[in-house]
Amino acid sequence: MRIRFTKEQQEFRQEVSAFLEAETPPERRTIYGEFSEEKYWFGRALARKLAGKGWLTVGWPKEYGGGGKTFIEQSILDEQIGYHRVQRVGLTGLNFAGPAIMKFGSEEQKSRFLPPIARGEVEYCQGFTEPNAGSDLASLEMQARRDGDSYVLNGSKMFTSYYAHADYIYLLARTDPHAPKHRGISLFIVEMSAPGVSTRPLPYINGEVAAQTFFDDVRAPASALVGEENRGWYHAMTTLDYERAGLERYARVRRAFDDFVDFCRGSHYDGKPLSHDPVVRRKLAILKVGYGGLGLALLEGGVDAEPRPGSQRGGVHSLSLRHTAEVEIRPRGHGDTRPTGDPHPPVRACPPPGSHRRSQQGEPAPARRGHHGDTPQHHRPAGLGTPPVAAYGLRLHPSPGDAETLGP
Ligand SMILES: Cc1cc2nc3c(=O)[nH]c(=O)nc-3n(C[C@H](O)[C@H](O)[C@H](O)COP(=O)(O)OP(=O)(O)OC[C@H]3O[C@@H](n4cnc5c(N)ncnc54)[C@H](O)[C@@H]3O)c2cc1C
Repeated sequence: MRIRFTKEQQEFRQEVSAFLEAETPPERRTIYGEFSEEKYWFGRALARKLAGKGWLTVGWPKEYGGGGKTFIEQSILDEQIGYHRVQRVGLTGLNFAGPAIMKFGSEEQKSRFLPPIARGEVEYCQGFTEPNAGSDLASLEMQARRDGDSYVLNGSKMFTSYYAHADYIYLLARTDPHAPKHRGISLFIVEMSAPGVSTRPLPYINGEVAAQTFFDDVRAPASALVGEENRGWYHAMTTLDYERAGLERYARVRRAFDDFVDFCRGSHYDGKPLSHDPVVRRKLAILKVGYGGLGLALLEGGVDAEPRPGSQRGGVHSLSLRHTAEVEIRPRGHGDTRPTGDPHPPVRACPPPGSHRRSQQGEPAPARRGHHGDTPQHHRPAGLGTPPVAAYGLRLHPSPGDAETLGP
Protein backbone atom coordinates (compact mmCIF):
# COMPACT_ATOMS: atom_id res chain seq x y z
CA MET A 1 0.00 0.00 0.00
CA ARG A 2 1.23 3.47 -0.84
CA ILE A 3 0.24 6.23 1.56
CA ARG A 4 0.64 9.84 0.56
CA PHE A 5 -0.78 12.94 2.21
CA THR A 6 -2.55 15.52 0.06
CA LYS A 7 -1.24 19.07 -0.12
CA GLU A 8 -4.15 20.18 2.09
CA GLN A 9 -3.33 17.52 4.65
CA GLN A 10 0.30 18.59 4.76
CA GLU A 11 -0.76 22.20 5.22
CA PHE A 12 -3.13 21.13 7.96
CA ARG A 13 -0.24 19.36 9.74
CA GLN A 14 1.91 22.52 9.56
CA GLU A 15 -0.93 24.68 10.83
CA VAL A 16 -1.64 22.38 13.80
CA SER A 17 2.07 22.07 14.55
CA ALA A 18 2.55 25.86 14.60
CA PHE A 19 -0.50 26.27 16.82
CA LEU A 20 0.62 23.65 19.35
CA GLU A 21 4.19 24.94 19.35
CA ALA A 22 2.93 28.42 20.20
CA GLU A 23 0.35 27.24 22.75
CA THR A 24 2.39 24.69 24.71
CA PRO A 25 5.15 26.04 26.94
CA PRO A 26 7.87 23.47 27.77
CA GLU A 27 6.79 23.06 31.39
CA ARG A 28 3.31 21.98 30.25
CA ARG A 29 4.56 19.16 28.05
CA THR A 30 4.43 15.65 29.38
CA ILE A 31 5.76 12.23 28.56
CA TYR A 32 3.40 9.26 28.56
CA GLY A 33 2.26 8.45 32.06
CA GLU A 34 3.79 11.52 33.70
CA PHE A 35 0.58 12.86 35.11
CA SER A 36 -0.16 16.03 37.06
CA GLU A 37 -3.35 17.96 37.75
CA GLU A 38 -1.83 21.12 36.27
CA LYS A 39 -1.00 19.36 33.04
CA TYR A 40 -4.42 17.74 32.95
CA TRP A 41 -6.21 21.10 33.23
CA PHE A 42 -3.83 22.66 30.75
CA GLY A 43 -4.66 19.83 28.32
CA ARG A 44 -8.34 20.34 28.94
CA ALA A 45 -8.14 24.07 28.21
CA LEU A 46 -6.12 23.34 25.09
CA ALA A 47 -8.69 20.77 23.95
CA ARG A 48 -11.32 23.51 24.09
CA LYS A 49 -9.11 25.77 22.01
CA LEU A 50 -8.66 22.98 19.48
CA ALA A 51 -12.41 22.50 19.49
CA GLY A 52 -12.88 26.24 18.90
CA LYS A 53 -10.82 25.89 15.72
CA GLY A 54 -12.90 22.89 14.64
CA TRP A 55 -9.92 20.55 15.05
CA LEU A 56 -10.65 18.44 18.13
CA THR A 57 -13.02 16.22 16.17
CA VAL A 58 -11.86 17.25 12.72
CA GLY A 59 -12.71 13.77 11.37
CA TRP A 60 -16.29 13.69 12.73
CA PRO A 61 -19.30 14.62 10.60
CA LYS A 62 -20.28 18.30 10.83
CA GLU A 63 -23.76 17.47 12.10
CA TYR A 64 -22.24 16.17 15.36
CA GLY A 65 -19.94 19.13 15.85
CA GLY A 66 -17.02 17.70 13.85
CA GLY A 67 -14.94 19.20 11.07
CA GLY A 68 -16.34 16.95 8.34
CA LYS A 69 -12.89 15.73 7.28
CA THR A 70 -11.51 12.18 7.28
CA PHE A 71 -9.77 9.82 9.63
CA ILE A 72 -6.47 10.96 8.14
CA GLU A 73 -6.94 14.57 9.32
CA GLN A 74 -7.98 13.19 12.72
CA SER A 75 -4.79 11.12 12.77
CA ILE A 76 -2.71 14.17 11.83
CA LEU A 77 -4.18 16.01 14.79
CA ASP A 78 -3.41 13.04 17.08
CA GLU A 79 0.10 12.84 15.69
CA GLN A 80 0.79 16.51 16.40
CA ILE A 81 -0.64 16.31 19.90
CA GLY A 82 1.61 13.33 20.56
CA TYR A 83 4.69 14.94 19.05
CA HIS A 84 4.19 18.15 21.04
CA ARG A 85 3.71 16.11 24.22
CA VAL A 86 0.44 17.70 25.15
CA GLN A 87 -1.43 15.95 27.98
CA ARG A 88 -4.27 14.27 26.10
CA VAL A 89 -7.68 14.53 27.74
CA GLY A 90 -11.12 13.32 26.75
CA LEU A 91 -9.77 10.28 24.91
CA THR A 92 -12.50 7.86 25.97
CA GLY A 93 -15.21 10.17 24.67
CA LEU A 94 -13.32 10.99 21.50
CA ASN A 95 -12.11 7.50 20.67
CA PHE A 96 -14.66 5.03 22.05
CA ALA A 97 -17.86 6.42 23.44
CA GLY A 98 -18.29 9.05 20.70
CA PRO A 99 -17.76 6.61 17.80
CA ALA A 100 -20.00 4.02 19.53
CA ILE A 101 -22.81 6.54 19.91
CA MET A 102 -22.33 7.71 16.34
CA LYS A 103 -22.54 4.18 15.02
CA PHE A 104 -25.08 2.52 17.29
CA GLY A 105 -26.82 5.29 19.25
CA SER A 106 -30.29 6.73 18.75
CA GLU A 107 -30.77 10.17 17.19
CA GLU A 108 -31.59 11.50 20.65
CA GLN A 109 -28.31 10.10 22.05
CA LYS A 110 -26.34 11.52 19.14
CA SER A 111 -27.64 15.04 19.60
CA ARG A 112 -27.34 14.87 23.38
CA PHE A 113 -23.90 13.29 23.80
CA LEU A 114 -21.80 14.06 20.72
CA PRO A 115 -21.64 17.89 20.56
CA PRO A 116 -20.30 18.26 24.14
CA ILE A 117 -17.54 15.76 23.30
CA ALA A 118 -16.71 17.72 20.15
CA ARG A 119 -16.57 20.94 22.20
CA GLY A 120 -14.11 19.35 24.67
CA GLU A 121 -16.51 19.90 27.54
CA VAL A 122 -16.98 16.42 28.96
CA GLU A 123 -14.82 13.55 30.09
CA TYR A 124 -15.73 9.87 29.84
CA CYS A 125 -14.15 6.83 31.43
CA GLN A 126 -14.41 3.21 30.38
CA GLY A 127 -15.96 0.44 32.49
CA PHE A 128 -15.09 -2.83 30.80
CA THR A 129 -12.58 -4.75 32.99
CA GLU A 130 -13.82 -6.39 36.19
CA PRO A 131 -12.08 -8.16 39.08
CA ASN A 132 -12.82 -11.49 37.38
CA ALA A 133 -12.94 -10.38 33.75
CA GLY A 134 -9.83 -8.95 32.08
CA SER A 135 -8.50 -10.70 28.99
CA ASP A 136 -11.60 -12.87 29.07
CA LEU A 137 -13.86 -9.83 29.09
CA ALA A 138 -16.98 -11.72 28.04
CA SER A 139 -16.98 -13.36 31.49
CA LEU A 140 -18.00 -10.05 33.02
CA GLU A 141 -20.45 -10.32 35.90
CA MET A 142 -21.87 -6.84 36.37
CA GLN A 143 -25.66 -7.02 36.14
CA ALA A 144 -28.05 -4.58 34.48
CA ARG A 145 -31.59 -5.67 35.27
CA ARG A 146 -34.47 -4.01 33.45
CA ASP A 147 -37.00 -2.52 35.86
CA GLY A 148 -39.76 -0.48 34.20
CA ASP A 149 -38.18 2.56 32.53
CA SER A 150 -34.76 1.92 34.08
CA TYR A 151 -31.93 -0.54 34.35
CA VAL A 152 -30.62 -1.36 37.82
CA LEU A 153 -26.84 -1.87 37.82
CA ASN A 154 -24.87 -3.90 40.36
CA GLY A 155 -21.23 -4.95 40.34
CA SER A 156 -17.82 -3.35 39.98
CA LYS A 157 -15.30 -2.34 37.36
CA MET A 158 -11.49 -2.44 37.63
CA PHE A 159 -8.76 -0.09 36.40
CA THR A 160 -11.10 2.77 35.57
CA SER A 161 -8.63 5.26 34.13
CA TYR A 162 -9.60 8.98 34.06
CA TYR A 163 -12.38 8.34 36.60
CA ALA A 164 -11.46 11.34 38.72
CA HIS A 165 -12.51 13.84 36.05
CA ALA A 166 -15.15 11.76 34.30
CA ASP A 167 -18.74 12.89 33.86
CA TYR A 168 -19.84 9.59 32.29
CA ILE A 169 -18.77 5.98 32.30
CA TYR A 170 -19.14 3.96 29.12
CA LEU A 171 -19.62 0.38 30.32
CA LEU A 172 -20.58 -3.18 29.55
CA ALA A 173 -23.02 -5.07 31.77
CA ARG A 174 -24.87 -8.36 31.58
CA THR A 175 -28.51 -7.97 30.63
CA ASP A 176 -29.28 -11.64 30.01
CA PRO A 177 -27.60 -13.98 32.49
CA HIS A 178 -29.02 -17.04 30.71
CA ALA A 179 -27.72 -16.30 27.21
CA PRO A 180 -24.32 -17.55 25.94
CA LYS A 181 -21.78 -15.23 27.51
CA HIS A 182 -21.05 -12.99 24.50
CA ARG A 183 -24.74 -12.62 23.72
CA GLY A 184 -26.10 -11.41 27.03
CA ILE A 185 -24.07 -8.19 27.32
CA SER A 186 -25.21 -4.61 26.66
CA LEU A 187 -23.50 -1.25 26.33
CA PHE A 188 -24.49 1.71 28.53
CA ILE A 189 -23.56 5.29 29.26
CA VAL A 190 -24.04 6.10 32.94
CA GLU A 191 -23.47 9.33 34.83
CA MET A 192 -20.62 9.06 37.32
CA SER A 193 -22.57 11.27 39.71
CA ALA A 194 -25.55 8.85 39.78
CA PRO A 195 -26.53 7.71 43.29
CA GLY A 196 -24.90 4.36 44.07
CA VAL A 197 -21.70 4.95 42.06
CA SER A 198 -18.59 5.01 44.23
CA THR A 199 -14.87 4.62 43.62
CA ARG A 200 -11.81 3.25 45.33
CA PRO A 201 -8.50 4.67 44.08
CA LEU A 202 -5.98 2.29 42.49
CA PRO A 203 -2.59 3.92 41.97
CA TYR A 204 -0.59 2.94 38.91
CA ILE A 205 3.16 2.56 39.18
CA ASN A 206 3.69 5.72 37.10
CA GLY A 207 1.86 8.01 39.50
CA GLU A 208 -1.49 8.07 37.72
CA VAL A 209 -4.45 6.96 39.79
CA ALA A 210 -7.23 4.79 38.38
CA ALA A 211 -10.08 3.30 40.39
CA GLN A 212 -12.22 0.35 41.12
CA THR A 213 -15.72 1.67 40.44
CA PHE A 214 -18.66 0.20 42.34
CA PHE A 215 -22.32 0.16 41.35
CA ASP A 216 -24.82 -0.46 44.11
CA ASP A 217 -28.38 -0.47 42.82
CA VAL A 218 -27.56 2.32 40.40
CA ARG A 219 -30.61 3.32 38.38
CA ALA A 220 -29.90 4.28 34.79
CA PRO A 221 -32.73 5.35 32.50
CA ALA A 222 -33.58 2.99 29.64
CA SER A 223 -32.18 5.68 27.33
CA ALA A 224 -28.71 4.91 28.76
CA LEU A 225 -28.62 1.73 26.64
CA VAL A 226 -26.50 2.27 23.50
CA GLY A 227 -27.50 0.13 20.52
CA GLU A 228 -29.37 -3.13 20.81
CA GLU A 229 -29.89 -4.88 24.11
CA ASN A 230 -27.66 -7.99 24.34
CA ARG A 231 -25.57 -6.89 21.34
CA GLY A 232 -23.17 -4.82 23.48
CA TRP A 233 -20.27 -7.20 23.03
CA TYR A 234 -20.35 -6.78 19.26
CA HIS A 235 -20.88 -3.01 19.47
CA ALA A 236 -17.92 -2.70 21.85
CA MET A 237 -15.61 -4.82 19.71
CA THR A 238 -16.39 -2.68 16.67
CA THR A 239 -15.73 0.59 18.43
CA LEU A 240 -12.61 -0.66 20.25
CA ASP A 241 -10.97 -0.69 16.83
CA TYR A 242 -11.17 3.10 16.73
CA GLU A 243 -8.80 3.26 19.68
CA ARG A 244 -6.34 1.04 17.91
CA ALA A 245 -5.66 3.27 14.95
CA GLY A 246 -4.47 6.86 15.26
CA LEU A 247 -0.97 8.20 15.39
CA GLU A 248 -0.60 9.74 18.83
CA ARG A 249 1.44 6.98 20.42
CA TYR A 250 3.57 6.61 17.33
CA ALA A 251 4.30 10.34 17.40
CA ARG A 252 5.25 10.25 21.07
CA VAL A 253 7.69 7.47 20.31
CA ARG A 254 9.07 9.43 17.36
CA ARG A 255 9.57 12.49 19.57
CA ALA A 256 11.34 10.45 22.25
CA PHE A 257 13.53 8.93 19.54
CA ASP A 258 14.37 12.34 18.03
CA ASP A 259 15.32 13.66 21.48
CA PHE A 260 17.42 10.58 22.05
CA VAL A 261 19.27 11.10 18.77
CA ASP A 262 19.95 14.73 19.76
CA PHE A 263 21.29 13.49 23.05
CA CYS A 264 23.62 11.06 21.27
CA ARG A 265 24.85 13.80 18.96
CA GLY A 266 25.68 16.02 21.91
CA SER A 267 27.40 13.41 24.08
CA HIS A 268 30.87 11.87 24.13
CA TYR A 269 32.17 8.46 25.08
CA ASP A 270 35.92 7.75 25.02
CA GLY A 271 36.47 11.07 23.28
CA LYS A 272 34.08 10.36 20.42
CA PRO A 273 30.51 11.48 19.87
CA LEU A 274 28.14 8.81 21.05
CA SER A 275 26.41 9.05 17.69
CA HIS A 276 29.56 7.50 16.16
CA ASP A 277 29.47 4.46 18.42
CA PRO A 278 28.48 1.37 16.40
CA VAL A 279 26.55 -0.16 19.31
CA VAL A 280 24.48 2.99 19.73
CA ARG A 281 23.94 3.39 16.01
CA ARG A 282 22.76 -0.19 15.73
CA LYS A 283 20.34 0.23 18.63
CA LEU A 284 19.00 3.46 17.14
CA ALA A 285 18.56 1.85 13.73
CA ILE A 286 16.59 -1.05 15.23
CA LEU A 287 14.34 1.35 17.15
CA LYS A 288 13.77 3.52 14.10
CA VAL A 289 12.86 0.63 11.82
CA GLY A 290 10.51 -0.67 14.53
CA TYR A 291 8.59 2.52 15.15
CA GLY A 292 8.65 3.47 11.45
CA GLY A 293 6.85 0.24 10.63
CA LEU A 294 4.43 0.90 13.43
CA GLY A 295 3.59 4.34 11.97
CA LEU A 296 2.84 2.82 8.60
CA ALA A 297 0.68 0.07 10.14
CA LEU A 298 -1.28 2.64 12.13
CA LEU A 299 -1.82 4.76 9.05
CA GLU A 300 -2.96 1.75 7.11
CA GLY A 301 -5.54 1.26 9.88
CA GLY A 302 -6.61 4.87 9.45
CA VAL A 303 -6.95 4.52 5.71
CA ASP A 304 -9.41 1.69 6.29
CA ALA A 305 -12.44 3.91 6.66
CA GLU A 306 -14.32 1.19 8.51
CA PRO A 307 -12.76 -1.28 10.93
CA ARG A 308 -13.13 -4.76 9.50
CA PRO A 309 -13.59 -8.01 11.35
CA GLY A 310 -10.18 -9.63 11.51
CA SER A 311 -8.36 -6.32 10.96
CA GLN A 312 -4.83 -6.14 12.33
CA ARG A 313 -5.54 -3.22 14.60
CA GLY A 314 -5.48 -5.22 17.84
CA GLY A 315 -1.99 -6.46 17.06
CA VAL A 316 -0.88 -3.02 15.90
CA HIS A 317 -2.20 -1.52 19.12
CA SER A 318 -0.17 -3.99 21.19
CA LEU A 319 2.88 -3.10 19.12
CA SER A 320 2.31 0.58 19.72
CA LEU A 321 2.12 0.00 23.49
CA ARG A 322 5.33 -2.00 23.30
CA HIS A 323 7.17 0.77 21.47
CA THR A 324 5.86 3.34 23.94
CA ALA A 325 7.26 1.27 26.79
CA GLU A 326 10.54 0.62 24.98
CA VAL A 327 11.33 4.10 23.72
CA GLU A 328 9.40 6.57 25.85
CA ILE A 329 9.07 4.98 29.28
CA ARG A 330 11.79 2.39 29.83
CA PRO A 331 14.75 4.67 29.15
CA ARG A 332 13.52 6.97 31.92
CA GLY A 333 13.91 4.22 34.51
CA HIS A 334 11.34 1.92 35.95
CA GLY A 335 10.44 0.51 39.31
CA ASP A 336 8.22 1.80 42.04
CA THR A 337 7.67 5.46 41.25
CA ARG A 338 5.03 6.05 43.88
CA PRO A 339 5.84 8.96 46.14
CA THR A 340 6.88 8.32 49.72
CA GLY A 341 3.90 8.17 52.05
CA ASP A 342 1.48 7.21 49.27
CA PRO A 343 -1.80 6.56 51.09
CA HIS A 344 -2.99 4.02 48.53
CA PRO A 345 -1.47 0.55 48.83
CA PRO A 346 -0.50 -1.02 45.47
CA VAL A 347 -2.93 -3.92 45.50
CA ARG A 348 -5.37 -5.19 42.98
CA ALA A 349 -8.49 -4.74 45.03
CA CYS A 350 -10.14 -8.00 44.12
CA PRO A 351 -12.78 -8.43 46.80
CA PRO A 352 -13.84 -11.78 48.18
CA PRO A 353 -17.02 -13.16 46.61
CA GLY A 354 -20.15 -11.57 47.97
CA SER A 355 -18.43 -8.56 49.55
CA HIS A 356 -17.41 -6.35 46.68
CA ARG A 357 -17.36 -3.31 48.89
CA ARG A 358 -14.33 -4.52 50.82
CA SER A 359 -10.74 -4.82 49.68
CA GLN A 360 -8.54 -7.81 50.40
CA GLN A 361 -7.14 -5.96 53.39
CA GLY A 362 -10.63 -5.58 54.79
CA GLU A 363 -10.62 -1.83 54.38
CA PRO A 364 -13.93 -0.07 54.81
CA ALA A 365 -16.28 0.49 51.90
CA PRO A 366 -15.31 3.46 49.75
CA ALA A 367 -17.04 6.75 50.26
CA ARG A 368 -19.82 7.56 47.83
CA ARG A 369 -18.32 9.54 45.06
CA GLY A 370 -19.48 13.08 44.60
CA HIS A 371 -19.00 14.86 41.28
CA HIS A 372 -15.52 16.05 42.09
CA GLY A 373 -15.70 15.41 45.81
CA ASP A 374 -13.40 12.62 46.88
CA THR A 375 -10.97 12.68 44.00
CA PRO A 376 -7.56 11.48 45.09
CA GLN A 377 -4.61 13.77 45.08
CA HIS A 378 -2.45 13.12 42.05
CA HIS A 379 1.26 13.06 42.63
CA ARG A 380 4.07 13.64 40.27
CA PRO A 381 6.10 10.43 40.21
CA ALA A 382 9.19 10.79 42.35
CA GLY A 383 11.39 8.13 40.82
CA LEU A 384 11.59 9.22 37.18
CA GLY A 385 14.71 10.73 35.78
CA THR A 386 17.23 7.97 35.05
CA PRO A 387 19.50 9.31 32.30
CA PRO A 388 18.08 7.79 29.10
CA VAL A 389 21.10 5.91 27.83
CA ALA A 390 21.96 4.45 31.24
CA ALA A 391 18.88 2.29 30.91
CA TYR A 392 20.45 0.67 27.87
CA GLY A 393 23.53 -0.17 29.89
CA LEU A 394 25.80 2.45 28.26
CA ARG A 395 28.17 4.75 30.12
CA LEU A 396 28.01 8.37 29.10
CA HIS A 397 29.97 11.57 29.40
CA PRO A 398 27.56 14.20 28.05
CA SER A 399 29.11 17.27 26.50
CA PRO A 400 26.34 19.45 25.12
CA GLY A 401 28.68 21.45 22.89
CA ASP A 402 29.11 18.68 20.36
CA ALA A 403 26.69 18.72 17.48
CA GLU A 404 27.88 15.95 15.17
CA THR A 405 25.19 14.66 12.91
CA LEU A 406 24.05 11.08 12.99
CA GLY A 407 24.68 9.65 9.55
CA PRO A 408 22.17 7.62 7.58
C1 LIG B 1 -2.65 1.36 32.12
C2 LIG B 1 -3.94 0.61 32.06
C3 LIG B 1 -5.14 1.30 31.96
C4 LIG B 1 -6.33 0.60 31.90
N1 LIG B 1 -7.50 1.32 31.82
C5 LIG B 1 -8.67 0.65 31.78
C6 LIG B 1 -9.90 1.37 31.73
O1 LIG B 1 -9.91 2.60 31.74
N2 LIG B 1 -11.05 0.68 31.71
C7 LIG B 1 -11.07 -0.68 31.69
O2 LIG B 1 -12.15 -1.25 31.61
N3 LIG B 1 -9.92 -1.40 31.74
C8 LIG B 1 -8.73 -0.76 31.79
N4 LIG B 1 -7.55 -1.47 31.85
C9 LIG B 1 -7.62 -2.91 31.99
C10 LIG B 1 -7.14 -3.70 30.79
O3 LIG B 1 -8.05 -3.64 29.74
C11 LIG B 1 -6.91 -5.11 31.33
O4 LIG B 1 -5.73 -5.00 32.10
C12 LIG B 1 -6.74 -6.13 30.28
O5 LIG B 1 -7.98 -6.40 29.70
C13 LIG B 1 -6.13 -7.43 30.85
O6 LIG B 1 -6.87 -7.88 31.95
P1 LIG B 1 -6.17 -8.21 33.34
O7 LIG B 1 -5.31 -7.07 33.75
O8 LIG B 1 -7.24 -8.66 34.27
O9 LIG B 1 -5.16 -9.41 33.04
P2 LIG B 1 -5.48 -10.96 32.98
O10 LIG B 1 -6.65 -11.22 32.10
O11 LIG B 1 -5.55 -11.49 34.38
O12 LIG B 1 -4.17 -11.50 32.27
C14 LIG B 1 -2.94 -11.57 32.96
C15 LIG B 1 -1.91 -12.20 32.04
O13 LIG B 1 -2.34 -13.52 31.67
C16 LIG B 1 -2.40 -13.64 30.24
N5 LIG B 1 -3.54 -14.47 29.87
C17 LIG B 1 -4.83 -14.27 30.20
N6 LIG B 1 -5.59 -15.26 29.71
C18 LIG B 1 -4.76 -16.08 29.04
C19 LIG B 1 -4.98 -17.28 28.30
N7 LIG B 1 -6.19 -17.84 28.15
N8 LIG B 1 -3.90 -17.86 27.74
C20 LIG B 1 -2.67 -17.33 27.87
N9 LIG B 1 -2.42 -16.19 28.56
C21 LIG B 1 -3.44 -15.57 29.13
C22 LIG B 1 -2.56 -12.21 29.72
O14 LIG B 1 -2.05 -12.06 28.40
C23 LIG B 1 -1.74 -11.43 30.72
O15 LIG B 1 -0.37 -11.46 30.39
C24 LIG B 1 -6.35 -0.82 31.92
C25 LIG B 1 -5.14 -1.50 32.02
C26 LIG B 1 -3.95 -0.81 32.09
C27 LIG B 1 -2.68 -1.58 32.21
